Amino acid sequence: MNIDSIQNGVVIDHITAGLGMKLYKLLGLDTLDVSVALIKNVSSKKMGKKDIIKIDADIDVDFDVIGFVDPDATVNIIKEGKLVNKLSIDMPKTLVDVIKCKNPRCITSCEQELQHIFELTDRENKVYRCRYCETKAN
Ligand code: ZN
Repeated sequence: MNIDSIQNGVVIDHITAGLGMKLYKLLGLDTLDVSVALIKNVSSKKMGKKDIIKIDADIDVDFDVIGFVDPDATVNIIKEGKLVNKLSIDMPKTLVDVIKCKNPRCITSCEQELQHIFELTDRENKVYRCRYCETKAN
């Protein structure tokens, strides 16, 4: 795929260098049958280095996941070779079934039908905690 000439797709730009792979995995892009490029450590005037993810398909990305991993990222929607929308991302107040609680004593470890819910408890430090046991997400 020519990564510079996406016709219809999504480009996630200004990802903090090093977070691209985490975002790629949490968005489930490795399981999609579409062309995806993860470009790491791109030189950026503003950021020094950044990661970029280019998805050559008109899919809906989960903004909550992007906001959780890196609220500084921007999302560009490309249609027919043109940038039609540039979205900035905010941290979601709650995260549902994105990450799992790692506390083995947490009720979500034994109650399989429970949703894994994390809440933003400290916006400044980007801290999310499990709704049930308050274990910090990482
Ligand atoms: Zn928990």
